Amino acid sequence: MSRAYYVTTPIYYISGNPHIGHAYTTVVADVLARTARTMGPAFFLTGTDEHGQKVANAAAAAGKTPQAWCDELVPRWQSLFAAYHVAYDDFIRTTQPRHERVVQRVFERLRENGDVYLGTYQGWYCVFDETFWLESKLVEGKCPTCGREVQWLSENDWFFRLSKYAPRLLEHFRSNPEWVRPKSAYNEMLALLEEGLDDLSISRTSLEWGIPVPGGGGVIYVWFDALLNYISAIGWPDDPRFRTYWPASVQLIGKEIARFHTIVWPAVLWAIGEEAPHLVFAHGWITTETGQKMGKSLGNAADPFALADRFGADSIRYFLLREAPFGSDFSYSEEKIAQRHNSDLGNDLGNLVHRTLSMIERYRNGIVPLPGDGPALLRRFGDLPQRVRDASLDLRFRDGLEAVWEMVTTLNRSIEERKPWALYKEGRERELDALLYELCEGLRLLAILLHPVMPERMEELWRRLGIRERRVDDDWTLSLAESIAGGTQTSLGSPLFPRMDLTPES
Ligand SMILES: [Zn+2]
Repeated sequence: MSRAYYVTTPIYYISGNPHIGHAYTTVVADVLARTARTMGPAFFLTGTDEHGQKVANAAAAAGKTPQAWCDELVPRWQSLFAAYHVAYDDFIRTTQPRHERVVQRVFERLRENGDVYLGTYQGWYCVFDETFWLESKLVEGKCPTCGREVQWLSENDWFFRLSKYAPRLLEHFRSNPEWVRPKSAYNEMLALLEEGLDDLSISRTSLEWGIPVPGGGGVIYVWFDALLNYISAIGWPDDPRFRTYWPASVQLIGKEIARFHTIVWPAVLWAIGEEAPHLVFAHGWITTETGQKMGKSLGNAADPFALADRFGADSIRYFLLREAPFGSDFSYSEEKIAQRHNSDLGNDLGNLVHRTLSMIERYRNGIVPLPGDGPALLRRFGDLPQRVRDASLDLRFRDGLEAVWEMVTTLNRSIEERKPWALYKEGRERELDALLYELCEGLRLLAILLHPVMPERMEELWRRLGIRERRVDDDWTLSLAESIAGGTQTSLGSPLFPRMDLTPES
């Protein structure tokens, strides 16, 4: 991969309550961006979606202007991402002038090209989903997505000629069967396309909280406005950042918004002469296990802030990526998180770190010995960095972590088998040095490979290893060509992943 990497999350509906699902999508984007940055330029965008009837209604109910209401809510989202150690490059808000300018400019471009026209919209509207529905799509007269009441609307609106792009969309789907993943989402969207497409109403005359249609005639439909954040943030059309990063490498979405992102979005991009993103990935839903007891002593698994406080955000990040293949639905509970935390992080990785650094302290005064010439245990993991990076960038995070854990297991086993305590007693210094050196170098590699997933904990490990010549998140080509220097002063510290006890206090 030589080109610049661009990853986006959906922009989050400002009035929503931040939950673990939002943390999930954003953490995944963060892992992708951190991984991509180890090889070249990368840009990671997230943000908030702030227009629409639902926001206007909620603000009115709170006795505030929509703008003031949004301004109050944005920090909630930003603090969620900070709590999860997410390092985005940009946070876009659809009420920012830089976004509004682009939306209006896109609209004007479409109007000049004849890709929008004025028509009469009559149909049903779900305020909750901000979505128009044909009568035939309603389920027992209600919104087919959320089951809520729909409103009858009849107004003169601008329509985007989506139907005109149906043949190109079909062609694009058929010749790029990997452009929408997972396969279930691809198949579902292809089936929709095969049914045929209606033009899409992209303005509303009955609403004021939105971006004005240039020249008057209501505001731009919130969904149309929202989609454009992915290009407004990087300065479409003239900013060099746009030419560097577009088309996006990966756009992460929840599967419920696949229709807008895989059908409407590429058509809009083509209409303004731009390319469709390389990949739209529609991931599954996380659900809490039913019947889970959430007593006081167990905290509240539904609150992402409480979860991060309790287990450490890096532990939750690890759990989210390790527990299920990315793309499928999965359920979680505090018990499951605690199990992963205690077994994988506490016992496997945490013990390896603690035993190694303890032995270095006890036998070598905390100083990394010079490399020995014993059996080179790590040589068989020469292709591990490449495997991990390939798996991550292909959104197979679980595979990557499993591969890393083979090394963790091997290193732990080498301690059992080569018994450094006996080597020390018997005065077999060279063998002891060789083993301790390999373990330290193993920890250095683990810190590098696991940093995208657990940035805060791996930075701590890096500090304890005492490496100053390089950062843990440096370009992998540089850091993998080196190894830890003999003579480096390490420090032991407390366990990286303290054991979590889930039984209520006795
Ligand atoms: Zn609905």
